[in-house]
Amino acid sequence: MKDKLFIYSPEMDKHPYPASCPFNTSRAGRVHKLLSSMFLLSGNEYGLCEPAPATRQELETYHAKEYLDMLVRASYGEFDHNFLHFGLGTGDCPVFVNMLENFYWSTGASLTAARKLLAGEAKIAFNPAGGMHHAHATYASGFCYINDIVLACLTFTDAGKRVLFLDIDVHHTDGVQDGFYDRNDVMTISMHQSGHTLFPGTGFEDEIGVGDGLGYSVNIPLPPGTYDEAYLKALDEVVYPLIESYDPDVLVLEAGADTLASDPLAQLRLTNNVHATVTEKLMSFQKPLLVTGGGGYNIENTVRAWSLIWKTITGQNDSHDLTAGLGGVMLQSTEWGGGLKDIPLSPDPTIKPDVDKAIDETITKVKKNIFPIHNLSEN
Ligand SMILES: [Zn+2]
Repeated sequence: MKDKLFIYSPEMDKHPYPASCPFNTSRAGRVHKLLSSMFLLSGNEYGLCEPAPATRQELETYHAKEYLDMLVRASYGEFDHNFLHFGLGTGDCPVFVNMLENFYWSTGASLTAARKLLAGEAKIAFNPAGGMHHAHATYASGFCYINDIVLACLTFTDAGKRVLFLDIDVHHTDGVQDGFYDRNDVMTISMHQSGHTLFPGTGFEDEIGVGDGLGYSVNIPLPPGTYDEAYLKALDEVVYPLIESYDPDVLVLEAGADTLASDPLAQLRLTNNVHATVTEKLMSFQKPLLVTGGGGYNIENTVRAWSLIWKTITGQNDSHDLTAGLGGVMLQSTEWGGGLKDIPLSPDPTIKPDVDKAIDETITKVKKNIFPIHNLSEN
């Protein structure tokens, strides 16, 4: 049974963001092309799945009608100064003709994935065009207009499922956190470069939810220069114990690749080995798993990281990773090591002691704020 699904349609590539915007919507199509050339999209247990576009009605299950009306007008090419009140027409969230078509497809892919997982027709589904974690119910922000993650999580909770959402994008998952801040049926965990040094300026250790949601929003802010081992330590000490304790019905992963050392918009220093490790670990929980893309502004390296995630999902991530270059696909980058995987990157020795200290302090704070609520020991 093909129960590991790569969700993609060429329709997703037809209405790209303006070239001046760093958010490059060709990435999903390029991942699809690379994986096709590697013969990684059709096997006994995995395959391609064509999504259905989302409908206006589906978007209204989270987004305000007034905001969606503005998006419709913007999509027709109208301009109104009131757009700015909805975050539209800014440098980060430009308006462009047929923009809604883009969002219907990227969102529809996450909703298709959620429905397949709920129906038991898939165990793992990957939508590289999804992961719009900055979109809010009433406004656009940070290249994100429609929050496909919130909508997918609501699809699960409406069916009575409890969801664990882990976000490893370099930016705080402010939009998703807002969506579930007072709920305990979706636990959100965000690993990100600290809001002191990066957009959107939120996601600190004391943002832990309110009311029924107290203890179910978890934030792990990280210093610039954070390297693989330090990042994995935070995952091991904080994130995985919380997943085990929460014991969700479904796992959702936002796998932005703007954490990579080469990313031009942020300052963490990870390699894509982290993406493979996290994917493998989440798979080991044996729960339905939805993976989305997200940020990633070094395009070649982002395409390679997401291709590596899919290769990991198909169970073919091994140490003999000599697959690049197949099918005439040529990939060049600073971290390229001859396969999909990055070569290991040493921590910057001039800042390593400060990075280690900052991460240890963060781990201690998060455990102190969150662990007692879940009867977990801080030690
Ligand atoms: Zn990001």
